[in-house]
Amino acid sequence: MGAAIPTHDVVIAGGGMAGTSLALALSQLGLDVAVIEAISRSANDQPSYDDRTLVLNQASLRILTRLDVVDDSLTRCPIRSIRVTRAGGFGHVHLNAADHDVDAFGSVVVARELGNRLLANMAAADGITEYCPERLETFETDEEQVRARLTSGQKLTARLLVAADGTQSSIRQAAGMASRLHDYRQSAMIFNVLSDAPSGDTAHERFTAQGPLAFLPQPEGRYGVVWIDQTEAIDEAMDWSDDHLLQRLTQRAGPGFNGFSKPGERARYPLKLLRTEAPIGQRVVAIGNAANTLHPVSAQGFNLGLRDVAGLVDVLREANDPGAPVWMARYVQARKQDQADTVRYTDTLARVFTNPNPLFRLGTGLGLSAHALLPGLKNRLVRSAMGFRTPVSSLARPEQVNG
Ligand SMILES: Cc1cc2nc3c(=O)[nH]c(=O)nc-3n(C[C@H](O)[C@H](O)[C@H](O)COP(=O)(O)OP(=O)(O)OC[C@H]3O[C@@H](n4cnc5c(N)ncnc54)[C@H](O)[C@@H]3O)c2cc1C
Repeated sequence: MGAAIPTHDVVIAGGGMAGTSLALALSQLGLDVAVIEAISRSANDQPSYDDRTLVLNQASLRILTRLDVVDDSLTRCPIRSIRVTRAGGFGHVHLNAADHDVDAFGSVVVARELGNRLLANMAAADGITEYCPERLETFETDEEQVRARLTSGQKLTARLLVAADGTQSSIRQAAGMASRLHDYRQSAMIFNVLSDAPSGDTAHERFTAQGPLAFLPQPEGRYGVVWIDQTEAIDEAMDWSDDHLLQRLTQRAGPGFNGFSKPGERARYPLKLLRTEAPIGQRVVAIGNAANTLHPVSAQGFNLGLRDVAGLVDVLREANDPGAPVWMARYVQARKQDQADTVRYTDTLARVFTNPNPLFRLGTGLGLSAHALLPGLKNRLVRSAMGFRTPVSSLARPEQVNG
């Protein structure tokens, strides 16, 4: 007789930031969860937990606090003001957290540090089994369950399969979810740099005709730089000498910066948009990048993925059979507005400022000025920056104080 096939409530394919966050949240509900991750945790090419700097908004920080991964050292770089400018044009926006009665809009965290905490908590949590390095190779579903097979031949059964396997998700495709993929033909180059002007707690986003450039405050006067341009231009920039890089950065950064030194290592990412309107199939749901992948302008990707996590947890909180069609449908219903709005917002920002039509660019300049002048628009920008989009999940709501 063969060994018994392990049975879990939920199998999560993909142990990136979305998959591990979901595993922690589901274990808090008392569910038995399996996480399957293809790439060894110690491998240098682990794609999720690298040196990229991530802006996490207040809603995300609340969710991660509930998962016990946030402490003062993780959030040592708060963003208390945001400056948005446009090269060669009028119109700018300056947002101050204090004007909106909050201490900070969010914090800049390094993906590797966040990843280490998520993994440590997962190892210590009850009810989570990790299969790594293992790839979920094939699966079948019926009305009752999911049967999955891993690369090693290991079989698993569950009542729900979550695709958290990133933009190229083979599970999303095998489950027949309709999605749209757009190649921006742009790439992001990221690196760290020391600024002659102290980085403080201001994040800068500058829109140029070639693409956006973001400066995210880091400890000891450094900034995490996200430099976006056509893919061929980034390929070239990856080979520039450090001196040339610093000279070009000073030109592109515009007024407000005196100069830069000590650039760190560069990494590049090709940029794509993936949109899945109904990220469900029979006993399968896709979250994070596997469902919707965004352009990094305005730093929304993982923030949106975490709202997927929190939204799914709210739905499954009541479910006696996770994966039953009623819960899948409720998840889509609960998440569709936020997903559609966030994808539209980032896609519009990614396209408008590089549009060659001068009238269009005049319009965006006016748009920025309008944001600065009209409180309603400014407040919308702030709500979006903070991540509190309705319906606000229970993990993102303020803690109830009794007494
Ligand atoms: C330059 C840049 C800057 C960014 N800045 C921000 C920011 O400031 N704020 C923000 O919120 N977001 C930001 N993002 C977006 C953020 O990085 C992503 O949203 C996030 O990393 C997606 O996580 P994920 O877990 O959904 O997917 P992934 O990180 O792609 O993880 C998928 C995982 O699945 C595994 N896998 C794949 N197939 C299988 C399989 N068959 N079986 C098992 N495992 C499998 C992979 O090995 C991988 O570990 C940025 C992105 C870029 C590129």
